[in-house]
Amino acid sequence: MADVQALDEVVEFTSGLIRLDTTNRGGGDCRERPAAEYAAERLAGAGLEPLMLERTGGRTNVVARIEGTDPGADALLVHGHLDVVPAEAAEWSVHPFSGEIRDGVVWGRGAVDMKNMDAMILAVVRSWAREGVRPRRDLVIAFTADEEASAEDGSGFLADEHAELFEGCTEGISESGAFTFHDGAGRQIYPIAAGERGTGWLRLTARGRAGHGSKVNNENAVTRLAAAVTRIGEHEWPLRLTPTVHAALTELAALYGIDPDFRDVDRLLEKLGPAAELVEATVRNSANPTMLDAGYKVNVVPGEAVAHVDGRYLPGGEEEFAATLDRLTGPDVDWEFAHREVALQAPVDAPLFGRMRDAVKEFAPEGHVVPYCMSGGTDAKQFSRLGITGYGFAPLRLPEGFDYQALFHGVDERVPVEALHFGVRVLDRFLRTA
Ligand SMILES: [Zn+2]
Repeated sequence: MADVQALDEVVEFTSGLIRLDTTNRGGGDCRERPAAEYAAERLAGAGLEPLMLERTGGRTNVVARIEGTDPGADALLVHGHLDVVPAEAAEWSVHPFSGEIRDGVVWGRGAVDMKNMDAMILAVVRSWAREGVRPRRDLVIAFTADEEASAEDGSGFLADEHAELFEGCTEGISESGAFTFHDGAGRQIYPIAAGERGTGWLRLTARGRAGHGSKVNNENAVTRLAAAVTRIGEHEWPLRLTPTVHAALTELAALYGIDPDFRDVDRLLEKLGPAAELVEATVRNSANPTMLDAGYKVNVVPGEAVAHVDGRYLPGGEEEFAATLDRLTGPDVDWEFAHREVALQAPVDAPLFGRMRDAVKEFAPEGHVVPYCMSGGTDAKQFSRLGITGYGFAPLRLPEGFDYQALFHGVDERVPVEALHFGVRVLDRFLRTA
C-alpha cells in the first residue's frame, strides 16, 4: 500500500513538473530537459540508474529499469511524456505554469496530460525503494519528449535507436485510461484504453488552369479543391466494429440492461445516452478538412490549391480509408499522407487487462471498468514497433462535474489532489502484481 510520503510526493511532483514549462509548439520548438532532469533525479533517489537520451539537444528522454522478482516474466513498459501543448495564460484563471495548489486542486498545463501520471510513476517507484518492494515483472520506466508533436525526438527515437533498453517488454501502459466517466445518472465508468485509431494527416493538391478571373475557366483549381473537400467533409463513413469497440459496446449494453443489437449500432448508441461518448468516435473512420490554402489575388485564378485533412482510421481500416479517399478526391485532386501513424489493437481478454480492472475495482468498488478505443494516438504507436502492446491506464478518480475529456488540452487544466492519491494507490497495486 502506498505510504503517506507517496501521497505527498505525487502532489509535489505534479506541481513541480507543471512549473517546468515544456510547451511543445511543434517543429522542434520545445525543451523537455529540465523536466527530464527533475524526473531522473527522483528516480536516482530511489536507487535506480536512469539514462538520459537525446536525439536533439534539450529534447531529453529518461529510461530506467527496475528488476522484477520473476526472471522468467516478460517486462512491462510504463511510460509518460514530459511535453505539454501550449497554453494561453490570458484565458486561464491561474497561470498555466504556476502549478498552484488551491482548494485541494493542482492547476496547470499538464495536470491531466500527463504530468500527473509522470508524478504517480515517480511517487510509486520511490515508495517501493523505501519499503523494499520489488515488482514481479521487470518494469521499464520511460519519460519521453515530443509526444505532442511528431515523437521523432521522443518515443520514435527511443524505439529506433535504443530498442535494447526495452528488451523483454511485451506490454505497456500510459495515458488516457482509467479515469472516472460520470454518465449523469449516477454511474461511474472507468474506461481503459485497448486500442487507438491510426492517424492520417492528408495533403490534398488540386491542379487546374491558371488565368484571368474574368474569363471562362472550367478547370479552376479552387473549385476542384472545394468540391473534393466538401465530398470528404460530408462523407458518411460506414460503421466498422473492431474487437475492442465490440467489447466496449457489449459491456456498456450489459451495464445499462440493453439488448446489444449490433445490426443497428446507431440505435444502440442512442440508447446508451451520455455513455455513447466513449465509443461514438471509434465506430468508423473519419476525415475532417482543417486547412485551406489557395490564391493570391481576387482576379487571378491560381493554378494550384491545397487543403489539409485530419484523417483517422480504425485498426484494420487503413486500406479502406485510402481507397475511399481516392474515390472522394476524384481525378483532378491528388492526395498524400503528410503524416501517418498506425492504428493499434490490444486484446481485452489479456491477463493484464484483468489486473488493471481489479486494481481499479479495489479502490473504486462503485466503478464499472470497460475497455475502449482511443480516437487519437499516443506514444504507444511508436513503442508498438518493438512488439509492445499498449494500454491506456493512468488511473484518476474524478468527482462529478470534472470533465476529464474537456480538460485534456483545455483551458484551466487541473486535477484534484484526491484524484492523484487514488492514482498512486491503484498504480501501486497494479504494478506490484502486473
Ligand atoms: Zn498526452
